[in-house]
Amino acid sequence: MSRIRQQNVTAAQWSADGGALGSPDLTVADNQVFGANVFSVEAQRQRLPKQVFKHLQSALARGEALDTSLADAIAQAMKEWALERGATHFTHWFQPLTGMTAEKHDSFYGPSGDGSALAQFSGKELIQGEPDASSFPTGGIRATFEARGYTAWDPTSPAFILENPNGALLCIPTAFVSWTGEALDHKIPLLRSMDALSRAAVRALKLLGDEESIRVFTTVGPEQEYFLIDEQYYYERPDLVTTGRTLFGTKPPKGHELDEHYFGSIPERILACMMDTERELAKLGVPVKTRHNEVAPNQYEIAPVFENSNVGSDHQQLTMQILQNVARRYGLVCLLHEKPFAGVNGSGKHNNWSMGTDTGLNLLEPGDTPHENIQFLFFCAAVVAAVNRHQALLRASVASVGQDHRLGANEAPPAIISIFLGAELERVFEAIAGGHAAAASDNGFLGLGTPSLPPLPMHGGDRNRTSPFAFTGNKFEFRTVGSSGSLGLPNTVLNTITAEAIDAMSDQLEAKIADGGSVEEAVIAVVKEAYSSNSQIVFGGDNYSEDWHAEAQRRGLENLRTTPDALPWLVHEQTVGVFSKYGVLSERELEARYEVSVEQYFVKLNIESETAASIARTMLLPAAVRHLNDLSATGMESLVGEVRPLIEEFHAAIIELEAANDDPGLEGLELAFYMRDTVIAAMDGVRHVADRLERLVADDRWPLPKYSEVLFIK
Ligand code: ADP
Ligand code: MG
Repeated sequence: MSRIRQQNVTAAQWSADGGALGSPDLTVADNQVFGANVFSVEAQRQRLPKQVFKHLQSALARGEALDTSLADAIAQAMKEWALERGATHFTHWFQPLTGMTAEKHDSFYGPSGDGSALAQFSGKELIQGEPDASSFPTGGIRATFEARGYTAWDPTSPAFILENPNGALLCIPTAFVSWTGEALDHKIPLLRSMDALSRAAVRALKLLGDEESIRVFTTVGPEQEYFLIDEQYYYERPDLVTTGRTLFGTKPPKGHELDEHYFGSIPERILACMMDTERELAKLGVPVKTRHNEVAPNQYEIAPVFENSNVGSDHQQLTMQILQNVARRYGLVCLLHEKPFAGVNGSGKHNNWSMGTDTGLNLLEPGDTPHENIQFLFFCAAVVAAVNRHQALLRASVASVGQDHRLGANEAPPAIISIFLGAELERVFEAIAGGHAAAASDNGFLGLGTPSLPPLPMHGGDRNRTSPFAFTGNKFEFRTVGSSGSLGLPNTVLNTITAEAIDAMSDQLEAKIADGGSVEEAVIAVVKEAYSSNSQIVFGGDNYSEDWHAEAQRRGLENLRTTPDALPWLVHEQTVGVFSKYGVLSERELEARYEVSVEQYFVKLNIESETAASIARTMLLPAAVRHLNDLSATGMESLVGEVRPLIEEFHAAIIELEAANDDPGLEGLELAFYMRDTVIAAMDGVRHVADRLERLVADDRWPLPKYSEVLFIK
């Protein structure tokens, strides 16, 4: 048997190590691990001096700065808690612009002077760290001569302990700033945008008669899609190892046409891995709720219960990390790339987003009373206006190399941003826009002669799976986010642009109320204006259809198919305007992000194209040539004649790719466009021939595991 076939057998023979987790009796209190490794409010209550605890909690509730004199006491309690759990080191855990997390470990222990070691951890160490951070991307914000950046403790996201078979690590969520105060990470702008939205929403709520709410939090619940494949195949494929996706591989004879995988029963080995992952995440306080198979073979999904955007975003980074770590225990590798396999469904991350008050009210939940519904329509209309105005920016916020295989390609969701509201809600808005609020619906959604609204249906019955931005009952689901992406930027954008729209509507509301007239009438008038001037973004049909592309163009909606098309919107005048108005990102900070994103785009593509050239030249071409030799030995010209021209074509395509890989002497966006137009085309050219060769060359000669193996052996 050939080497690769032999490995297929080994991979398929894998069986779950039944003793690894066992099945704990969950009715026993100690077996409930949720939050066990989190320095939670409860842990703080038990360990902090009463006054310190009270101060900390009230500062957090009000979104106020923390009195740094409390830091020593908190550090002391945190250290003791961590040491009891076996932690030897601590780290400031942060999210640089690479979109991943970064950590540098420091030992708690220092020499005590008498030859022994003492565990130390001061308030200063808790609050501020100074990683030697000159090699994180900064988009030119930090020249190396001023290479200092520092990490600053984020008390709003709880510290946690990461376990390792050989020890444990206390992780302190931190923000990452340049020494001149510019944000170098994804957390700072997210926090700033949450503040901006809170201020705007609280102001609007006051106008609407809510005197109680003092904070509004944005919430996020991400549905993460991913692939799990056997690690043997992963390590057999330099493309997967180096780029996270397969650069070669012909479509398997069996895809997801049979629809047997989606929501199908989960294979035992995969389920064992999922359960272990969930248990690890539970210890870290990540409230994982659902798991299921996804559309593609070997594709799965994990989703938590929503949390406030900052914590939810930290938890999302942890989820991606734990998914990858735990998979290895089961001989699997977790692929988070947006498109690991050509011709097979890719992976996204549905970003469920809403706004809620500190009094427990979801602002996007249609309520039980006319008043609640008026409030709902106000905030919902603000989202419609915001998304319409900043559709291109939203698109840019999720742009990356991997995403270009999904958005604007043949797959969902499209690069065109539109909003799905559901038939009932759309009808209500249309009626208001048409000036006949009172007659909005025959089953009496809006009262006769009065603009007040009786209860809306709790969860609009219909769903639209093709919409990139769908209202799903009590939240909006931004489905364009990529599976490997950070939640930071898309949520920062959502929060900031919604703050702007809410404020604009509040201005109008204030003016109308000042003119006399009831709040209800004023709200309906403002909603009418907001909706009718933005309703071109609302679309309930099939977003994948060609018709929609034509229709969207007629409506004047943006269709930014690729990353280089979209990224300039990060620094567009309109973006700079709203981000500086709300103090979320300065023009310089936006430029830095833009530069880093452009660079990531061409650097990643360059890695892909060099890898493709090397695999083609040193693995596939030799295999094809050996195969040709075998055929020549038979003396059967017809066989040789089938393969030989293809090999010549392959060789020519490789030479073309190698030439495209030569430094074109371009920079920035121009280089990005060169990569997109010249290099991707050359890579596709090589792949196209390689995939045909894969079907011709003797199976035992082909050096890469095939899709039919990688995707179907579990
Ligand atoms: P779906 O039908 O799209 O699978 P679910 O109702 O199961 O949706 O919810 C999917 C995600 O939406 C979950 O992560 C859930 O926590 C999140 N979610 C629910 N309510 C909110 C909210 N108010 N804000 C943010 N996310 C939410
Ligand atoms: Mg969903």
